[in-house]
Amino acid sequence: MRVYLDNAATTAVAPKVVEAMLPYYTIFYGNPSSVHAFGQEAKAGVDHARAQVAKALGAKEDEIIFTGCGTESDNTVLLGVAEKYKSKGNHIITTAIEHHAILHTCEYLEKHGCEVTYLPVDEYGRVTAEQVAAAIKDTTILVSVMFANNEIGTIEPIEEIAKVCHEKDVLFHTDAVQAVGHVPIDVHAMGIDFLSLSAHKFHGPKGVGVLYCKKGIRLPSFIMGGAQESRRRAGTENVAGIVGLGEAIELATTDLPAKMRNVSRLRDKLMAGIEASIPEVRLNGHRTERLPNNVNYSIRYIEGESILLMLDMAGIAASSGSACTSGSLDPSHVLLATGLTHEVAHGSVRMSLSDMTTEEEIDYVLEKLPGIVEKLRAMSPLYHAK
Ligand code: PLP
Repeated sequence: MRVYLDNAATTAVAPKVVEAMLPYYTIFYGNPSSVHAFGQEAKAGVDHARAQVAKALGAKEDEIIFTGCGTESDNTVLLGVAEKYKSKGNHIITTAIEHHAILHTCEYLEKHGCEVTYLPVDEYGRVTAEQVAAAIKDTTILVSVMFANNEIGTIEPIEEIAKVCHEKDVLFHTDAVQAVGHVPIDVHAMGIDFLSLSAHKFHGPKGVGVLYCKKGIRLPSFIMGGAQESRRRAGTENVAGIVGLGEAIELATTDLPAKMRNVSRLRDKLMAGIEASIPEVRLNGHRTERLPNNVNYSIRYIEGESILLMLDMAGIAASSGSACTSGSLDPSHVLLATGLTHEVAHGSVRMSLSDMTTEEEIDYVLEKLPGIVEKLRAMSPLYHAK
């Protein structure tokens, strides 16, 4: 049996999404900027996708900018706000557990004259609106807090944070790459000024994302060139990818509460099974304020990497951290920020489900995992020394 539990890294493209995309490679292959019929057919595909995204997010169509990925959306906001509002101030507030698309951009900005505050999180990976309020000062131009964390699945109090930002007249961005298509989001109702998303996290294609940018706010284009996306993002559109993103977001957000119930039931079964059959495990992330598809445990006395290898041999794909940091031996900055020691953080495994995950797959993981842990602990000097 093969079981894919690494959906936070990327997801399978849904068959309906592939079906929607294919004609845009072979039939409607015009350039959307061309005035002839071929171009206009392609443009119609992009326009339809824009309407699908706007509806899914509770936004207006002209607030949707297609980008090349979630990373590009994040970069555009941070660099764009720093540039545009430099006469107002140079201070940005974010959290210690953001994705590197945010953290590395903040580090770059620090080298170029910005001041960045990295808010600490509690043991569950949460920040509070009070922390944000206390950190805002006269020079603050942007607050960027992720909607949900990619490693531990913790959902942040986005609406409350947006509220304090607006009370203090500061712009608010959320990296919602792990949240869109998984939990309900309404950008207008939640008071979000900028939001980043990426199609490949909800059964869409890789290499296409969106930046939602509230009407009335205009950022410099991160990619310079042509007049695409109303001069907000240059470069010929990835038409098929954009069509796929539109289809994927519509599919993911249709009947979302029912999908969330199904996925979280399987997540809870996996969590209950792990806790019942494996001693000395720690759930990482918040128990309730949590993405419906995220499971993350520290399994004491063994290395996450060894568990991953053994799981892989049993046909099960999981992860020991975020996709971008796997391959590096440093423990995850997210787990360390929640207060774990290096040793405990090293023994962590993330299993991320999707609405394509089945009960049989979860049963299979629960059949295999306890034996793998037992075997590795039997070989672990740490386990024998405890
Ligand atoms: N932000 C978060 C929270 C993510 O999980 C990811 C991808 O893992 C990204 C940003 C980057 O998105 P993309 O892969 O589309 O560049």
